[in-house]
Amino acid sequence: MTSVGKPMSEASQFDAVVVGAGVVGLSAAIMLARRGLKLALIAPQALPFVASTSQRFDPRVFALSNKSQRFLADIRAWDAMPEQRVTPVSAMEVFGDDSKAAPLRMNAADVGMSALTWIVEQQSLLDALEAAARFTPGLTRINATVNQLQRIESVWQVQHEGGAVSTPWLFAADGANSPVRAAAELDFPVEDYNAEGVVGTFRLSVPHNNVARQWFLGSSVLAFLPLPDNCISMVWSMDTHQYYAWQRRSPSEWVTALAAVAQGCVDDVSPVSEAQGAVMSYPLRHGVAPLWFADGVVLLGDAAHQVHPLAGQGLNLGVEDVVDLQAALDANANRLDDALLRKWQRQRKSECQPVHWMTHGLNGLFRVELPGAQWIRNTGLQLVDRLPGLKRWLISQAMR
Ligand SMILES: Cc1cc2nc3c(=O)[nH]c(=O)nc-3n(C[C@H](O)[C@H](O)[C@H](O)COP(=O)(O)OP(=O)(O)OC[C@H]3O[C@@H](n4cnc5c(N)ncnc54)[C@H](O)[C@@H]3O)c2cc1C
Repeated sequence: MTSVGKPMSEASQFDAVVVGAGVVGLSAAIMLARRGLKLALIAPQALPFVASTSQRFDPRVFALSNKSQRFLADIRAWDAMPEQRVTPVSAMEVFGDDSKAAPLRMNAADVGMSALTWIVEQQSLLDALEAAARFTPGLTRINATVNQLQRIESVWQVQHEGGAVSTPWLFAADGANSPVRAAAELDFPVEDYNAEGVVGTFRLSVPHNNVARQWFLGSSVLAFLPLPDNCISMVWSMDTHQYYAWQRRSPSEWVTALAAVAQGCVDDVSPVSEAQGAVMSYPLRHGVAPLWFADGVVLLGDAAHQVHPLAGQGLNLGVEDVVDLQAALDANANRLDDALLRKWQRQRKSECQPVHWMTHGLNGLFRVELPGAQWIRNTGLQLVDRLPGLKRWLISQAMR
């Protein structure tokens, strides 16, 4: 995408434009339009995941926090998802890399809640949000890719495949590689983990009892997130070179590898017995934009911050960007201005920072190979398990 060029022809005018129709872009567009802004949401319609007998679940799933859940309910997207495809997580077990040690267990009941988090498929959530967007007055959905930006006297001219729009406020929710961020010349220093997040769906032969499980395995982190019908979504973060070696493995070889990890650590997980489709992978990186707001451009979601998926917080942080912007607008008679956005930026950066430290730190801690490092991290896990106060605090952080 380019940021300069010849003046664009006739452009429809909007109070705000959101670029990107992932979960964050759709959420932001609905929230802003509901506050009375004349709004355009521009992004190509994603190729939908269509369930089949061999692939019943979207391989992309999210663990959503309470705060995200409440917001999605408020904008009428939560109840639009088929109830049978939303899985509450009643407990979480975290295993270190000492196979004999008991896991750190966190129960929703310990903090008086019915669920620590909810597992939803990306496609169910996008369908629900697109439906909510269709019923939101003041929201114009443009199915197109944005390919040119130009700023003339505080107004952004946004050229897309089907025409052009103009606006003083441009929200970039166009993902980690954000073309809008690049065109607006906002910096985004990135640390590449040289790792892939490998996802796939498998079935367990014994009930998962709505428990999410995670294994820190030294050079990789494996998670089982519960799905309906005793299936699980696997999220396995592993070094890229390790993934290249694994890529050619058959479903049954993946099953054997998963069963070996799960069996070695806990008694009540039987071998994963039926693979439900191929695995997919996503490159893992860590990055935070130094500026999330400048010259009428506002960065949201992965366009502003990208974190390791080991804590399942990336999307939740993006939804919280929108929730906190909503609160700031509510306190400012729904008026967008520079002061409001500067304050919002400060608040969001300080709330995101602990999550970045935690994910970055945990990923580093469990990869250290110095003598004694394994003992320290596994003893740390045991200690947390025995300190109810600290454990409750950790649970509340995970639930937020
Ligand atoms: C393996 C893995 C597991 C994860 N698990 C979790 C989890 O359990 N919980 C959690 O909270 N997070 C999780 N995350 C993180 C989460 O996936 C991301 O944080 C989230 O998807 C980012 O959403 P977004 O809407 O900001 O961006 P995206 O979902 O990347 O959306 C970007 C949008 O921008 C559009 N776009 C791009 N370029 C243009 C253009 N030029 N013009 C118009 N539109 C454009 C795209 O079409 C798309 O609609 C996980 C990540 C990985 C890799």
